[in-house]
Amino acid sequence: MINTGLKELSQALAAKKISSVELSSLFLDRIERLNPDLNAFVTVDREKSLKSAADADARLAAGTAGALTGIPIAQKDIFCAEGWTTTCGSKMLANFVAPYDATVIEKLHAQAGMVSLGKTNMDEFAMGSSNETSYFGPVKNPWDRTRVPGGSSGGSAAAVAARLAPVATGTDTGGSIRQPAGLCNLTGLKPTYGVVSRYGMIAYASSLDQGGPMAQSAEDCALLLNAMAGFDPRDSTSLERPAEDYARDLDKPLAGLRIGLPKEFFAAGCDAGVMAAVQAAIKEYEKLGAAIVDVSLPNSHLSVPAYYVIAPAEASSNLSRYDGVRFGYRAPEYGNLDDMYMKTRAQGFGAEVKRRILIGAYVLSHGYYDAYYLQAQRIRRLIANDFVEAFKSCDVIMGPTSPTTAFRLGEKSADPVQMYLSDIYTIAVNLAGLPGMSVPCGFADDLPVGLQLIGNYFDEARLLGVAHRYQMATDWHRRLPGGID
Ligand code: GLN
Repeated sequence: MINTGLKELSQALAAKKISSVELSSLFLDRIERLNPDLNAFVTVDREKSLKSAADADARLAAGTAGALTGIPIAQKDIFCAEGWTTTCGSKMLANFVAPYDATVIEKLHAQAGMVSLGKTNMDEFAMGSSNETSYFGPVKNPWDRTRVPGGSSGGSAAAVAARLAPVATGTDTGGSIRQPAGLCNLTGLKPTYGVVSRYGMIAYASSLDQGGPMAQSAEDCALLLNAMAGFDPRDSTSLERPAEDYARDLDKPLAGLRIGLPKEFFAAGCDAGVMAAVQAAIKEYEKLGAAIVDVSLPNSHLSVPAYYVIAPAEASSNLSRYDGVRFGYRAPEYGNLDDMYMKTRAQGFGAEVKRRILIGAYVLSHGYYDAYYLQAQRIRRLIANDFVEAFKSCDVIMGPTSPTTAFRLGEKSADPVQMYLSDIYTIAVNLAGLPGMSVPCGFADDLPVGLQLIGNYFDEARLLGVAHRYQMATDWHRRLPGGID
């Protein structure tokens, strides 16, 4: 049951081959056994999960179940879930129990009837690429426990990779779904900005943040996205569009598909082993009938610098709410109100979060706003325009998800710039608001490599189909790390 996709799980539940309580217990037992070492979950509540599973079983018995009812899922700890501790990986929220459900949780849990197994570890406030900034300690990559799982959705990635959950939610501001998916041999999708509601999803950089599925296959991502997506009046950036079936193009043949390869993604800077796996995947696509087109994203080298102005600027504003007054951590001892703010924030935030608040406040300050923030916004527009141009001659853009495979724990944590460069291929997609995926495409030195697929706005269904056809022809996504049985 632990290597089973959503469709088969759904069929097994509908046919009463297994109950949701049994299925959920199976995963909860695995979590109990394997999580102490992996540290993928920060909160597990067996009783609460089994109660949802029993509710799901009642729906299954009553004939009111949907396609995902009774299937367990791991939730990134950035989503508020009523009655669950929701920490966002921070000491600041270590004891915060969410009083309401994020829209994503409401849709997956209350509406679809999925069973939340717990909340997954993550970089503090989603700031990081290795899960090492978490207040709750790093997560280990199930493929090699001396290595990082990627970040910031590292706990979700490790949880699915070690089959502690069949699927998970993630969020992606600069690569946080795609990069950990790539480093852990999963399929992950960051939707077009505005497709998945941000209501109740703790804000990092609001103009970039987007939730999405992390799963064992493109098909599972499509099924999960069907349940996550949709207009939400409670999120002012949610897009009012007709509902779609994201699984509709899964079986569409690839003949005639034009794949754009940006020359900037194939230049120096990417590990040879990663590049070899990506090139082999592209050859496979040609065999499946796709045509290759050369494209260019001439401003993509500016994406990391622009992002590290815009994202911290937004973060410095978003994180000003953590002042110790209404919720979250408050310093135990202080003199006056200003002292309370200072001590609370000094003690409650970790080093990376503080670095970003400082950068953000700086680039927004009088005298520097035009030089940094405004310039970064202009670059953002140029980057988005590059994609508009590129999509005139291709349907999907491909390249590596990350320049390296999973790096060692501690290898980059002392050098923020090296860490930031992990997202060199993913960040432009967020700046442009486009959908992007990572799909397993092979191994380099026994570590997984991710192929990135970038689509035009609202082209999720096509992207998922393009990924699915590849997964029908290859079995990289079926490979499992050793030692997890
Ligand atoms: N690694 C990037 C950062 O540190 C992106 C994180 C994310 O997508 N949440 O900001």
